[in-house]
Order: sequence, then C-alpha cells, then structure tokens
Amino acid sequence: MMSAATYHFQIGQFECLVIQAHSSQTPVTRLLGDAPAQEVEAVARQYGLDPQALDFSMNILLVKAGSHTALIDTGVRDIGLPEKLRDQGIDPAAIDIVIVTHGHRDHVDGIFDAAGNFVYPNARHVISKREYDHWLAPEQLAQAEKNPAVAVWKRLQDRRDRIELIGSETDEEIEVVPGVCAIRAPGHTPGHLAVRIESGGDRLLHVVDVAHTFVQVARPEWSPSFDYDKPQAIETRRRLFERAARDRALVLAYHFTFPGLGRVVTEGNTLRWTSLQTLPTG
Ligand SMILES: [Zn+2]
Repeated sequence: MMSAATYHFQIGQFECLVIQAHSSQTPVTRLLGDAPAQEVEAVARQYGLDPQALDFSMNILLVKAGSHTALIDTGVRDIGLPEKLRDQGIDPAAIDIVIVTHGHRDHVDGIFDAAGNFVYPNARHVISKREYDHWLAPEQLAQAEKNPAVAVWKRLQDRRDRIELIGSETDEEIEVVPGVCAIRAPGHTPGHLAVRIESGGDRLLHVVDVAHTFVQVARPEWSPSFDYDKPQAIETRRRLFERAARDRALVLAYHFTFPGLGRVVTEGNTLRWTSLQTLPTG
C-alpha cells in the first residue's frame, strides 16, 4: 500500500498535520445533484477542476496544541489511520482529544477497532450534545441495520464515560483546550461542528463538511443531497466562509482536494477559494 500523503504546517506555536486518509474521484454533478448541472460544471472548470473527476479526499487534521494533542475526526476504520500516525512519529496513545465533528461514517468509523476498543485509548471524545441526541434518537436507532454509523453511536452510548458532550443550542463557540475551539455549524447534520485553531495570532478554520467542494465557496446555495437541513447548511456555509474571508484565516475542509487547505477571498459580491500552493511532503 502506498504511504499516505501528509502535509505539515504551523499555526503560530502549534504543529499541524493533515493526513489524507482516502481519496476517490466523482463527477461534481453527482456531488451537487440538485444544482443546475451546466452551471456546476462551468464553475468547476473556472477552478481548473475536471468536472467528471473531482478529487474527493478525506483530510484528517492532527494538532499539537501546547501540552495537548488533538485529532479532528477518525476516518473509516479500514484506512489504518493509527499506522499512518505512527509513520509520522505520533503514538495514538498520546492523543488526548478526539473531536468528533459529526456522526457520518467517514468521520466516526475509526473511533473503535474491530474488537470494539477505542483506537485512541487515552482520549476524551468531544461531541456536540445535539449530534449525540440526534444519532441516538429512536428513529435513527431503527436504521441501525441499514446505516453502519448507527452501530458506532450505540457503542459510544455504551461508553458514555469516555465522552464529553458539549454545547447548547445557543453556544456559538466552545473552547475544547486553549487555542482549539469547536464552532456550532449545523445543517450538514443537526449538531455538526467546525473547529477553530488559534495560536500566536495565526488562525485556521476547519470547516469540516460545511462544504464538500470549493465550488460551494462561490456558490454556497448549492448543497449536496446528503445535507440534512439544506437551508440551514446554506446559511452556515455563507456565515463561515464570510468569516474566513474577514479573518483572513487559513481554511481546511475535510473533503476538498488534498491537503484541503486554502483561503477565501472576497471578489465583488461573491467569495472565491484559492488553494494553498503546497509542495508534496511524502
Ligand atoms: Zn464527510
């Protein structure tokens, strides 16, 4: 198996690492199936993307924030993230925070190993209360057979002692550890979280699944079919990308083309994505 693509960078004093846990290619019109196909393809081409083969990545962020080591999401189990972390000199047992941004399988499946044990044995797993309640509601549990993510949530419920539920409907931001904040970003799922990393005046805004391709930076009104509440997802997308432009923050998105990093700039009345120019680092 090829070694994973990785990208190291700094936010102030914090060391950050993006690991590409997986990538696949998909037509952009399949991803944004409800939007007008010709327009979607035209915007994709403006960004130099092949509309038929959009890179759909899985970018996992690790941050060494002072004395804490935080992992943002876990990917799917069979990608072997713990081995990929070890290859980078990071012991999974040294990770003390796992932020679980939301309940979809591509974000939660790697929490447990095949035997049902925590892959990050010393971590507290930080989850929004809204998301936890959503996945453990009777109508979701009834889907357990059809949706493998539900099985992970049932196991999390059994291990409630290892979970820290955060936030209420009115909390916009919750500090997880100094310099690492969870931000309420609902729509994609009811309790979806974004994450802000801040150190020494530098900022990274990890928007996670607020958008799935940077075509949506220019056209936030285009939602994928799997956004849970589309009007809310659109509102959140606008709010976070406008904030990123205002703050001149570095932006990371979980599914954007690896390493998923760039900036949002204002152009007249619209926003535009510019990918960070990166060198391959292995
Ligand atoms: Zn996702």
